Amino acid sequence: MFDVKKIRKDFPILGREVYGRRLVYLDNAATAQKPRVVVERMDEVMLALNGNVHRGVHFLSEQATEAYEAARERVRRFVNAGGREEVVFTSGGTAAVNLVAYSYGQRFVKAYDNVVVSAMEHHANLVPWQQLCEWAGAKLRVIPMDDRGRLMVEKLPQLLDRRTRMVAVTQASNVLGTRPELRQVVDMAHNAGVPVLVDGCQGIVHGGVDVQALGCDFYVFSAHKLYGPTGVGVLYGRREWLEKMPPFLSGGEMVERVGFEKTTWAGLPLKFEAGTPNYVGAIGLGAAIDYLEGIDLRAAAQHERKLLERATERLTAIDGVNIYGTQDDKCPIVSFTVRGAHPMDLGLILDKQGIAIRTGTHCAEPTMKRCGVESMCRASMAFYNTLEEMDALADGVEKALTMLR
Ligand code: PMP
Repeated sequence: MFDVKKIRKDFPILGREVYGRRLVYLDNAATAQKPRVVVERMDEVMLALNGNVHRGVHFLSEQATEAYEAARERVRRFVNAGGREEVVFTSGGTAAVNLVAYSYGQRFVKAYDNVVVSAMEHHANLVPWQQLCEWAGAKLRVIPMDDRGRLMVEKLPQLLDRRTRMVAVTQASNVLGTRPELRQVVDMAHNAGVPVLVDGCQGIVHGGVDVQALGCDFYVFSAHKLYGPTGVGVLYGRREWLEKMPPFLSGGEMVERVGFEKTTWAGLPLKFEAGTPNYVGAIGLGAAIDYLEGIDLRAAAQHERKLLERATERLTAIDGVNIYGTQDDKCPIVSFTVRGAHPMDLGLILDKQGIAIRTGTHCAEPTMKRCGVESMCRASMAFYNTLEEMDALADGVEKALTMLR
């Protein structure tokens, strides 16, 4: 049994009230709340062992460096990377995609080449590739999706040719909850000699990842969606690629020797970590991973499944509700519209009842367009949500509709 009451105690914010109502937080796909242990660990770093990493010989610098590198090892283990040098800390998932698009792109993408993305990408895994194509004179190709929000991976082989330089696909859609069949994507791309970048920002939260088993070449995620702090993210890259790629940002920390005539780079992963990294955040991410490893993630996933089922069942029963993304085995994300009610109005009325959902385009305008709408409401769940909160959401929507209609 998954003890959600006990889990909720680890997240102080869940106990607060908004507008005199108990908070019902259903915007976890935007950012998850933090367990107390993460905040305490970050406090400890700043209050007791702060020293800039990889520089000083003094005690604090050494302790901070040790904690930072221990966090890297925790991440390595969590995603099952082959080595610590394959784990690069960035300022977030978006920054990690940009790193690859710029660095890999500079070296490997030329005029008349092409890059493949999917029809359900967050802008973070779309716009950097679009930018790269514009600069390089390359073309962007798109794997389509069907009306249920399933990615049509069977169409991928016809998009791949000798000039394809990258396939960039999400592990889970932040709008539809869909999990594309990534194994197939990787196999198809690799058969054509093309590397694959997986956007794990949503997927890692619901089921994790084993990058070696998956066989992807790059994998990115943000700490703040994984119950860690903002301002830190991870790029996993296969060593063979990272070694061939030029630095993205340059400056201190990422160099071996510097002279006016010539500068050489530090080894991996520091070659990609110019300047003072967010070591406090990275250590916070390490604490979040420790926290997750301390709970029964299988039971947590089952609990999330029940939340998804209850929310779907209750919302579907409301006249005029349309849910987008109905693939089996999707993440606990329910995006919907209601006939006769603008998503923004619904969101505002729910907010006054203490219920936080997301409204708008969810940073995925092409996905909206494919679904034939301009905006949606989205309720996204975490393991600390309850079945009662799913009922509160549906009751709240019904109440809002009586006001709006
Ligand atoms: N990809 C997906 C699928 C996302 O949901 C998000 C965040 N909404 C991102 C990328 C970007 O993450 P961040 O804003 O933390 O860089």
